[in-house]
Order: sequence, then structure tokens, then C-alpha cells
Amino acid sequence: MNEILKAAEARAAELTDGELALINRQALRPLVKEEVYSFKLAACDNQVDRDFERFTDASLEELAGLFTGKSVLMDHWWSAGSQTARVYAAQVEAEGEVKRLILRCYMPRTEQTAGTITAIETGILRECSVGCAVRRAVCSICGADQTKACCQHIPGKEYDGRLCVMALDGAADAYEVSLVAVPAQPKAGVVKSKRYGGEEAPGAEPAEDAGAAEEKEALLMARAVQEQEEKRYGGIKA
Ligand SMILES: [Zn+2]
Repeated sequence: MNEILKAAEARAAELTDGELALINRQALRPLVKEEVYSFKLAACDNQVDRDFERFTDASLEELAGLFTGKSVLMDHWWSAGSQTARVYAAQVEAEGEVKRLILRCYMPRTEQTAGTITAIETGILRECSVGCAVRRAVCSICGADQTKACCQHIPGKEYDGRLCVMALDGAADAYEVSLVAVPAQPKAGVVKSKRYGGEEAPGAEPAEDAGAAEEKEALLMARAVQEQEEKRYGGIKA
């Protein structure tokens, strides 16, 4: 499957000896504390997000393994030439029901990275996005895997009092982590039922009833967005 992008958040991290040892597994020469800056990214979790998607607990664990060692890209606004941070450790942390993938990252303290470090420390630069791919997107209403066949349920809509969400399962790859100076563009919203790339089910067109004009407009907009958007769920069927 193609890439899914999710918002993440940068947080402060304490650089202990143990953390430094983990960092030095990634470094080509042993680094000392003074030359390293470390931070955490709260990446994806198992809660329903604004796309009405959620990662399964199993997929978060798999992503933890896939993200370790990956580079952290800087939004070009901040960097050009300072793409020097790296994920040195990743794990799923539980907070009650919430399970969240936490990426621990480091970068060298240099003249080039000083501005970025200041921006993270002061909270100006805290929006991030993570890119990954999953093998399945499973409808909470009917259980259909949207990578194989789109069902007629629309994420974010209720069916007999049950909210339709897509469970992202089976981590396939972790592509990127990016720090961005401005929040990621809000996603187009709720009407994205056909972006997963599966075959469209018969009768998948929403019925046009009275008062559906707004919904129709949203659907048309979502389609326009979808055409621009890469078919992120459409690729690998493995
Ligand atoms: Zn469904």
C-alpha cells in the first residue's frame, strides 16, 4: 500500500546514559552527550483520528520496529541541508486505553541545527508528520478490507448508532518522519470512502435525499481532493 501521513507531536526528552548508548548504535563514531540533542515524537496511536481511522495495537508494535533507524526530515522552511535527525528507538507506550507510538530521535548539536533545536525546545516547531503504509484498512461496520473492495460505509458516519471508522492494520513500511513548521493541512474531512483503492461495491453511491445537498457538495470536494491525492491504499496487495 501507498503512504499514509499522520500528524505527530515533538516532545522534550531526557538524554540519559542509556539513551546515549542507544543513540550510539546509530552513530558512526561514539557521540558524547554535549554534542547530541534528543527529542521524542508522539506519532500514531490507536484512537480514532480526524480521518476516522485508527491504528490497531498490533500495527503500532510493528511500526515501532520499522521506524527505528529512519531519518527525520526537516520541513524545507527550517532546514535545507540539515536533514540530520534520526529515530534511534521506538516503542508503544500505554496511557490507559490509549496506546501510542513514541519515536525517540536525536540530532547533532551544530551551527546548522541550532535553529531547529531552539524551535523544538521553545515549542515553535512541534508539529510533525509520519508516513507509513499498512496492508489492510478494515471497516468497523462490515469488516470489509478497503484495499480489496470498498464497502458502502463512509468513515465518520453513523450506522444504527455505530460510528464507521477504518482500522489500519498490518504495518507494511515506515517511510518518513518530518518536522514541519506549520501544522499539516487539515485533511479534507469525512467523505473519503473511495480513496482506499479497492473495487467499488454495488450501490456504493450515497442516495440523494432531501437535505443532502451539503453532503453531496462534500462528496464532490472529497472526490476532487481524492483525484489529487495519491491513492495511498491502492498499491501493494500483499
Ligand atoms: Zn463497511
